[in-house]
Amino acid sequence: MMYYSTRDKNTEVSAAQAIAAGLAADGGLFVPADFPKLTLGDIEQLAALGYRGRAARIMKLFLDEFTDSELADFTAAAYSTNYDDDRYAPLTAVGENTGYLELWHGPTCAFKDMALQMLPHLLTASLKKTGEERGVCILVATSGDTGKAALEGFKDVDGTSIFVFYPKDGVSDIQRLQMVTQEGKNVGVCSVEGNFDDAQTGVKKIFGDRGFAEELSRRGYFLSSANSINWGRLLPQIVYYFSAYCDAVNVGKIALGDEIVFCVPTGNFGNILAGWYAKQMGLPVGRFVCASNANNVLTDFISTGVYDKNRPFHTTISPSMDILVSSNLERLLCALCGDKQTKEYMESLKAEGKYEVSAATKAAIKADFDCGCCDDAETKAEIKRVFDSTGYLIDTHTAVASKVLGDYRARTGDSRFAVVVSTASPFKFAADVLSALGGEAAGDPLSALSARSGRPVPAPLAGLEGRRVRFAEVAAPVDMIKAVDGFLK
Ligand SMILES: *Cc1c(COP(=O)(O)O)cnc(C)c1O
Repeated sequence: MMYYSTRDKNTEVSAAQAIAAGLAADGGLFVPADFPKLTLGDIEQLAALGYRGRAARIMKLFLDEFTDSELADFTAAAYSTNYDDDRYAPLTAVGENTGYLELWHGPTCAFKDMALQMLPHLLTASLKKTGEERGVCILVATSGDTGKAALEGFKDVDGTSIFVFYPKDGVSDIQRLQMVTQEGKNVGVCSVEGNFDDAQTGVKKIFGDRGFAEELSRRGYFLSSANSINWGRLLPQIVYYFSAYCDAVNVGKIALGDEIVFCVPTGNFGNILAGWYAKQMGLPVGRFVCASNANNVLTDFISTGVYDKNRPFHTTISPSMDILVSSNLERLLCALCGDKQTKEYMESLKAEGKYEVSAATKAAIKADFDCGCCDDAETKAEIKRVFDSTGYLIDTHTAVASKVLGDYRARTGDSRFAVVVSTASPFKFAADVLSALGGEAAGDPLSALSARSGRPVPAPLAGLEGRRVRFAEVAAPVDMIKAVDGFLK
């Protein structure tokens, strides 16, 4: 399988090259040249396997340079005792026709682990395959969860180092503590004055700085990305869409071949795009519902065909979705309207902060995607509604999707089995979840939420308060490059 840039079909690279590079040289993202097709018979075979087996088989379709035994090793290492549930991505049925796909049983309690426990294996193997001798420095801009998940994935991995930027006032207390107390000898963390988009723009600028790249190369380093622009991030995410479908078949919620609905709390459009890729591979999906918080640029885009980031940025209780530029949308556009058109849209986004897709592209998007958004008050009401009516506890991001799914069903009458993609443990956003339930926010929100819900605090979050803060650096966006320069001295 070859890959090319979303902005130029003539840039063919191998999977290992795509993963090693992260971003294409022209600023585009790597996409596979085509999507291998699975039959219902293939899906039935996947249903008989555990999560690791499903992952190895699906990933192999996109990674011909990797052997079956490499992939078996990687999946065994990525999905292991680092998870507190040996189903890794369990589908919890709540009610007759709704399931919650729990993607937060890994070491950082959010869905980013599904990919970031895998990426270091894919990346280090890719560097060997491409003959790269320099050390790789992973540069991350995070809206909260990616940073911690990447730090956990890459800490003390030979031949790698990792530096994470997070928006100073844009992450939850728990998210910040998780990052600033990170262990490991090859890690660095710095906060940025500004929001996530400022941090992401700053990181993109550093990637685009040729002179800095040359200087780092002299020091024996090169930069790569663990943001969901890296193909090695997206690929492991395709797996859990198949896995959820298999589990729904296995428990008799659906029959093999039935179409289902996925509702995904969306920020950078990586998670939901992986689901859409699964559909291109033959997974029977009737609709993807794209759920946003008050930063509803995607709701407007899917409804009108106009992407316009010129709007106020809202800091919400679902911070991992506080995003105005959803990078992975570029991959969807490339699949629907080709590299040349995508390049034009991206140039217009850069110059004017907006673009409008053609009527045909808009119709193609609407054929597969529905959308909706809700504000913080509605998010909290949904947490309470689900808990009071079913006893099931969800986090603020999952609640956005849960609410938007309810709205979608009421509006369309679609009663097919639907999976809400559950992206974080409720304990990761304990203070807001607790306040949604009407609990006291005083004292330690983790133990208070545990008492209120009767569930244990996940081990990775217990004891966070007492850990030593290792990273207190704050940088203005223009100084982000200096922070990286200092880290790699
Ligand atoms: C990252 C994240 C999201 C958004 O996922 P995208 O792939 O960026 O769309 C949603 N919820 C949580 C908890 C996250 O960490």
